[in-house]
Amino acid sequence: MPGFELWSDVERKHLNDVVQNGVLMRYGFDGNRNGHWKAKELEAAINDYYGCKYSQLVSNGTAAVTLALLALGVGYGDEVIIPTFTFVASFEAVISVGAVPVLVDVDDTLTLSPAAVKAAITSKTKCIMPVHMCGSMADLDALQAICTEHNLVLVEDACQAIGGTYHGKKLGSIGDAGTFSFDYVKTMTCGEGGVVMTNREDVYISCDGYSDHGHDHKGVDRGADLHPIIGYNYRISELHAAVGLAQIGRVNEFLAIQRKNQAALKAILSTVPQISFRRVPDEAGDSCSFLSWFLPNGEIANAVVEELKAQGILAGNFYWYNNNWHYIRKWDHLKNAKTLSSLSPELKEKVIHHATKDFSVSDAVMSRCISTAISLLWTEQQIKEKGEKIVAAVKKFI
Ligand SMILES: *Cc1c(COP(=O)(O)O)cnc(C)c1O
Repeated sequence: MPGFELWSDVERKHLNDVVQNGVLMRYGFDGNRNGHWKAKELEAAINDYYGCKYSQLVSNGTAAVTLALLALGVGYGDEVIIPTFTFVASFEAVISVGAVPVLVDVDDTLTLSPAAVKAAITSKTKCIMPVHMCGSMADLDALQAICTEHNLVLVEDACQAIGGTYHGKKLGSIGDAGTFSFDYVKTMTCGEGGVVMTNREDVYISCDGYSDHGHDHKGVDRGADLHPIIGYNYRISELHAAVGLAQIGRVNEFLAIQRKNQAALKAILSTVPQISFRRVPDEAGDSCSFLSWFLPNGEIANAVVEELKAQGILAGNFYWYNNNWHYIRKWDHLKNAKTLSSLSPELKEKVIHHATKDFSVSDAVMSRCISTAISLLWTEQQIKEKGEKIVAAVKKFI
């Protein structure tokens, strides 16, 4: 999965450009930069490679999700539909803009179930935010149809699916806005960083201004910029953008290795008829950063996980059902609305409501699922050994 595994002279060269001239900020200081505009160049490269009209780099993926919601006007009282299997950033971002996170079930795609989304729509729903977890995508045709029918906006959290596609279009470029994280463990990394991608000029202008204290960025003199809106600071630094600029040129290389390694591992696990695989709405578009597989039931999955742990080979295999960061079951801080500052009483009530909601549909999927992270460094021999050990562990319990 992570681009950091293949750290190289390309990253060192781009970083060195910035280190040499000492301009660490993305805006201004034109005279000192020696022509190096790493953030600007990376945004242009993102537009080109990921097929979107506009992109705004920010300090991390959580900021990107937050900014996408803000730029689409999601705020007080609005409900945002997000999946039960995601990363905590999804509900953090929604709550931070004063909106209501509405968590709904996932299906065997490990992403939002369109049927569950339909059932969750109310007069307050403003946005659907699918999260393309573990390298593969949500059923975007079905979700887009729901958005059109109910006049909702679609935000794709593609933080974990960099380079994946759906019907030929890059994930993150399809909704009203899409986001990537470039944190240290993502397919391409900046160390820390993120981006909002959009084809809507209005959304881009809002992202550009808000992420830099509301500056309109129209003047040549930063001090003379006007501030049409109250903004915030989500800026990325030139150092981080330099790493991203190196990595984006290598994404094709990373994806090719991921696809090859995932296929090799899948071929081994496929020899066990009781193992099935995550449904991928567009197989050709899987970024293959993970291989997600199902066992016949939760008891067997749990036993296999315990067996892998006992053998010291659990690392890289994720049992999300028991995970603190990614699945609703262990999110007591959300269910108890544990925030630092107080929420409005109505928002708090709707957040706490998740403690008593029935998520048995998600449980039935997630309790059977194990995801194996695909390394860029594996040799063919290592894949064979890993696969055979997993198969042996599974065969003990079926
Ligand atoms: C990594 C991630 C984020 C947040 O990214 P950060 O850069 O770590 O803030 C958001 N959503 C998903 C699905 C992620 O995996």
